[in-house]
Amino acid sequence: MRKPIIAGNWKMHKTIKEAVEFVNEVKDKINNTDVEAVICAPFTMLTELKKATEGTNIKLAAQNMHFEENGAFTGEVSPLMLKEIGIDYVVIGHSERRQYFNETDETVNKKTLKAIEHNIMPIVCVGETLEERETDKTKDVVKVQVEEAFKSVSSEDAKKVVIAYEPVWAIGTGKTASSKDANDVIGYIREVIKNIYSEDVSEEVRIQYGGSVKPSNVEEIMNEDDIDGALVGGASLNPADYVELVNF
Ligand code: PGA
Repeated sequence: MRKPIIAGNWKMHKTIKEAVEFVNEVKDKINNTDVEAVICAPFTMLTELKKATEGTNIKLAAQNMHFEENGAFTGEVSPLMLKEIGIDYVVIGHSERRQYFNETDETVNKKTLKAIEHNIMPIVCVGETLEERETDKTKDVVKVQVEEAFKSVSSEDAKKVVIAYEPVWAIGTGKTASSKDANDVIGYIREVIKNIYSEDVSEEVRIQYGGSVKPSNVEEIMNEDDIDGALVGGASLNPADYVELVNF
């Protein structure tokens, strides 16, 4: 019922030229049409990527945006600007943004509401640090992050939100949560959503796992009942790997 969504998060990598070459290389090889394929790219290349992905199965995401439509916010990009170039998704509250750019549960909530208002689908990232995991706080941490992200979001709109569960200690480290552990936390996130809204909503929201996903472990992860996709950093930079990930 929930369409799987595999998103490559390029972070701060690739030039426009490299990005367009990447799309030209992968576009005819993505044959798993039961999966939504997404590329989360830096702002500078989104316009060119929009052209390059036209008529393909690949959708585009920005990696961040501001929650205001315009104003004196030097260096920021607004939802209107993303809408203007036809961006489908936006990553909100990635742990790197929480860690290095002062994103909080409050800004995540504001951005989530704004993205929905402008019909850009939010991919909201949550996840615990190593210390939180080791002190058994994983579920408490993600519960608060999820509850805060969905504040004032209607139940109809909540169904459009994608959650990415990314344990911070698994990002870019080569350490993956076991697929059972990831499924356990993701199942718990579904419980939290059910308690905020209803069973109906919790069954529709798609929840990805992220953190050192690669072609060799994507299938096992995707086989878990509650996991609906993956948010992939490092391994998504290579065209052949991206194709394997999406065609898992
Ligand atoms: P990784 O990054 O796949 O390189 O661990 C995942 C992410 O940060 O989204």
